[in-house]
Amino acid sequence: MTASRRIDRSVLAVAREIDARGLVIGTTGNVSARVAGDIRITPTRQPYACLRGRDLVTVALDGTVLRGCRPPSRETPLHLAVYRRRVDVGGVVHTHSPYATAWGMTGHPLNPGLEDQSYYEIGVVSCLCGNHDGGTGQPRDLGHALGSSNAVLLGNHGVLAVGRDPAAALLVARVVEHMACVAHAQITMRLAAEPHRGAVFDMSN
Ligand SMILES: [Zn+2]
Repeated sequence: MTASRRIDRSVLAVAREIDARGLVIGTTGNVSARVAGDIRITPTRQPYACLRGRDLVTVALDGTVLRGCRPPSRETPLHLAVYRRRVDVGGVVHTHSPYATAWGMTGHPLNPGLEDQSYYEIGVVSCLCGNHDGGTGQPRDLGHALGSSNAVLLGNHGVLAVGRDPAAALLVARVVEHMACVAHAQITMRLAAEPHRGAVFDMSN
């Protein structure tokens, strides 16, 4: 199997997995991989379950569509911004997973203090404030917010996760969703444990 075919397979496998794991709804989200000096990315508005290698689109780092029978994801500019800035990145995954998306709407960095954050070398996940549609209106400070980290929250628009390949980026996206879920639980439990709410947990009555 050629290297490019192997990369196509990894993009397709990860695209199906973000759907199967509920990290996106329908045809939202997108997956890409670096191939030589270009990228291969999922097309726009195509169901992941029936995607084939021929559906992926080859795009140059300057945004020129080189090959593909469908338009690339409209959020391709987000991917390109990462690949141009980070030569260590070989795969990018963008999801709309619910807890991470909700946390992004708070505008605060995500840092529940989990051991997973150091284990997976994610650390604190920065949040880009404002509305980011992922298209040509991409935030110019995306690269700065991502820095050398593996993930960033896009205001009201989910997660952008990166890795050495699409599978590694998917793992980061899953960990970020887990972090946001735990952060939500922490806040909920702290509120419930406040003195005037403590009766919720008092089982002695
Ligand atoms: Zn999106």
